Amino acid sequence: MKIEEVLSLVRPHLRDLQPYSSARDEFDQSAVEKNKFIYLDANENPFDTGYNRYPDPYQHDLKKKVSSIKDIPANQIFLGNGSDEAIDLIIRLFCGEGDNILIPTPTYGMYKVSADINNITVKAQSLTENFQLPQSFQPDERTRVVFLCSPNNPSGNLLDIHLQNFNCIVVVDEAYIDFTSNPSFTKKLDQFPNLIVLQTLSKAWGLAGLRLGMAFARPEVISLLNKIKPPYNISSATQQIALKELQKDNTSIVQKIISERTRLANELLKIKTIKKVYPSDANFLLVKIDDAGNVYTNLIIDGIVVRDRSRVKLCDDCLRITIGTPEENNRLLEALKSAS
Ligand SMILES: *Cc1c(COP(=O)(O)O)cnc(C)c1O
Repeated sequence: MKIEEVLSLVRPHLRDLQPYSSARDEFDQSAVEKNKFIYLDANENPFDTGYNRYPDPYQHDLKKKVSSIKDIPANQIFLGNGSDEAIDLIIRLFCGEGDNILIPTPTYGMYKVSADINNITVKAQSLTENFQLPQSFQPDERTRVVFLCSPNNPSGNLLDIHLQNFNCIVVVDEAYIDFTSNPSFTKKLDQFPNLIVLQTLSKAWGLAGLRLGMAFARPEVISLLNKIKPPYNISSATQQIALKELQKDNTSIVQKIISERTRLANELLKIKTIKKVYPSDANFLLVKIDDAGNVYTNLIIDGIVVRDRSRVKLCDDCLRITIGTPEENNRLLEALKSAS
């Protein structure tokens, strides 16, 4: 698809939307050195609390840092209050009455919830037995957005994605990209203007409580997301903390989680009630176990919470287990062994 075709998919009233103009957007800030201004424009409290001023609506400093880490220009980065905000804004940007989104099942639950909230039809197609896209996974003429999670939640595997098959917006959700050696789809943004890649600080960066999600796309698409977002969607505190955390090197922690994933998978396979441990490129394992519902309940009694996915399509008798610390994983293994 060409960028012009992508822009033609935008809901017309949003293409022409006059966005909220915040107080500090309305004059040339370079006129005087920034800290020399007296700000009487935004009805802020003038007494310094550290947070009395509104945050930077476009998060310039933080984006500069993300840009250098990800090797993506700052004008191709959107930051949201979690990836969940980006998912909602993408649906609102492209989907109107009568349009639909296409998702595989099983996958991350927020695509459907967000579409449902926006009253947008969800076309769901089952993945194959080994959790890959079937031949029949095709958008129709009213499909505006396809959501593909890779590595996929809850199966943990990478999807084999052929972007040229899709003549609509394709969102590749890479929440777990740091736990795989596969390259990111961000490398394909130049070639595919209809591509939006989502990543997050919630998993590999250990900052789920902070709520910071990232969307990478062509500058034209980023501008449109900026136009429809709440003006101050990322708080000053979040911007400051994220900037500080991104100075750190998270590779050794990610490596530790990956090596625990291998160890836990091997140990789980030694337990006789466990029928299958699915291969994982993420920070969790999907595990098929005899009588999963009961195992789930008994683990709770042992003080261990996993995710019961046994009623999810293709996941009969499956639990999704997040990789914990070595000690936590040992406790899980003991509990499962003593019950088997
Ligand atoms: C955990 C997860 C996210 C993260 O969402 P945030 O709102 O950024 O915390 C996004 N997508 C998938 C598939 C996930 O599993």
